[in-house]
Amino acid sequence: MTDNGYGKPLPRPDPVTQPFWDSVKAHAMSIQRCRTCGRYVFYPRMHCPSCFGRDLAWLPVSGRGVVHAFTIVHYHSTPAFRADTPYVVALIELDEGVRMMSNLVDVTPDPKHVRVGLPVEVVYDDVTPELTLPKFRPASAE
Ligand SMILES: [Zn+2]
Repeated sequence: MTDNGYGKPLPRPDPVTQPFWDSVKAHAMSIQRCRTCGRYVFYPRMHCPSCFGRDLAWLPVSGRGVVHAFTIVHYHSTPAFRADTPYVVALIELDEGVRMMSNLVDVTPDPKHVRVGLPVEVVYDDVTPELTLPKFRPASAE
């Protein structure tokens, strides 16, 4: 069993990923951008997967994007996850062009409401005093 105050497994930040976790804890998500080729990079890495440049900067992002793919979990064998069913696991494509696996929240988990291309925005789930998870909800109209 997990004894981390959350009841489910949590990420373990390391020196490469720590700036990402610090940014979501501050509710201002940042991801890496390559200073050599200009591409955004996610997940955090030591070098750019496009040009292998090692000059990566951390930049704040909009937190906005679209659902690229999703699935609805109706059954989970672990009690802590089972209590959340049905829930939506989604691959989010951020406006900056990178994709991030997360949960889609504030939705009725019904395929009629969740669809590929649905505009979404990040929300910050402070799951423990030390760790915040970025999740996504349908974007509010502006
Ligand atoms: Zn690059």
